[in-house]
Amino acid sequence: MRKRTGDLKLIKELNKTLILDKIRREGPISRAEIAKIMQISATTVTSAVSELIRDSYVYEDGRGTSIGGRRPILLKVNPNTFFLIGIAIDASKLTIAELNLNAQVKLKEVYPLEKNLYDSFSSFVIGVIGNFLERYPDLDYCLGISITTQGIVDSVNGIILYNPKLNIENLHLKSLVERQFNIKTYIDNDTNGDILAEKGFGFYQQSRNLIYVTIGDGVGAGILINDSVFRGFHGGAGEFGHTTIDYNGKPCSCGNKGCLENYVSWKAIHTKILTEINNGTSTVILEKTKGDLMKITPGIFRYALNEGDALSISILDEVAVYLATGLVNIVSLFNPEKIIIGGDLAFDNPYLIKKVNEHLLTHSLKTLTNGFEVVPTSFGSDYDVVGSGALLLHELFNFTLH
Ligand SMILES: [Zn+2]
Repeated sequence: MRKRTGDLKLIKELNKTLILDKIRREGPISRAEIAKIMQISATTVTSAVSELIRDSYVYEDGRGTSIGGRRPILLKVNPNTFFLIGIAIDASKLTIAELNLNAQVKLKEVYPLEKNLYDSFSSFVIGVIGNFLERYPDLDYCLGISITTQGIVDSVNGIILYNPKLNIENLHLKSLVERQFNIKTYIDNDTNGDILAEKGFGFYQQSRNLIYVTIGDGVGAGILINDSVFRGFHGGAGEFGHTTIDYNGKPCSCGNKGCLENYVSWKAIHTKILTEINNGTSTVILEKTKGDLMKITPGIFRYALNEGDALSISILDEVAVYLATGLVNIVSLFNPEKIIIGGDLAFDNPYLIKKVNEHLLTHSLKTLTNGFEVVPTSFGSDYDVVGSGALLLHELFNFTLH
């Protein structure tokens, strides 16, 4: 009997999050329209909406047109009453941001990560969060903290199982952050956050089968199958950077040889740029960095591409072929509607998207690429923190359940 009561409560909560999501997507919308579209009773909608208004998630905003009888009151989501903290950690930096319920970034700070933090990593993260939170007089309006990182993450228990770039294993980061701040905390692999962000707030919300590939200092993939994120047995599905493209190739940190990551990541590109500069190849990268090789970043490489820099284009042409070779495998395995490409190297990089599309259309099974396209991320330079925030927003709106 107790279990049944619990189940009913769950259904009620689920209805509430789905109604909230409907108002977010289709508001201004009336209670009657919600009941009609979702095929649930008017009583259920009315009671859920009362709670959502009471809790300040939703407000009434004017009246719609009458379809006989009184003009209905319209509902909208209140995006700015509450906020959340999104944190994205890659191999070289930590980005922390305040986001609203529309996944819009209101404030953002970036901290470089010192090399080899090891044991002090969690205290560094907690220190950054503590500083960031100091500006808020009332944390009752903070819905939670979302953290994404590369590597394999046990999102259920909030543990970073394996992150070779930061040299972290089995770090219980969720419980450490929750204990420190007493704020609900979510943690997941970065590409799982990215794919949730695209599904909930991006340009491709209608698609039920999407792959999100990130290319920066690492290479990974988030996988959406039939509107669910596919995580695998250990939460490690989507380690696209460690799929092999040359069994005789370069040794990889994972123990294998010829992993894709070693051919297309920023580290691989950076090494190539340095080698060519040392060989005397001329490039606008040298002018842009005024000869300071320490200042070469993915942003400067993308700038050089846009300027038509011959060296950058030749490096990218090769990278695009390697990347597309890997993506052909993804197309064959998953038959996705879109592959979205993000990450420091890929956002704002139309040349990369174009080259990859050309290769894919000539090398993939024709039936699978009919109507298919490789597209850029929906979120520009904020993609990483929006991805992080999407973990919590997914809890709130449940937007993969339809
Ligand atoms: Zn590998």
